[in-house]
Amino acid sequence: MPYDFFQNKECEYFPCHPGADPETFSCIFCYCPLYALGDKCGGNFTYTENGIKDCSGCLRPHKRECYGEITKKVGEVVQLVQRKKT
Ligand code: SF4
Repeated sequence: MPYDFFQNKECEYFPCHPGADPETFSCIFCYCPLYALGDKCGGNFTYTENGIKDCSGCLRPHKRECYGEITKKVGEVVQLVQRKKT
């Protein structure tokens, strides 16, 4: 898929995760669309001592091969928003 990978090497934070490979790091999901799923996102998160979800250790949205699984789960975010509206 030509649209499953994008890099912005001009970004001052690129690559914005410690230890990430700058050759394979994708910026297409600069902010992970699954964050709102909390502990159901399926990623490698931790919680800070203040209870904030910390995604620093998760490279899943920045891997080209994960594009499909991320977009598949976006429907769960939509359902979450719909449930909150009712
Ligand atoms: S970056 Fe990883 S841990 Fe954070 S919301 Fe996305 S999938 Fe979950």
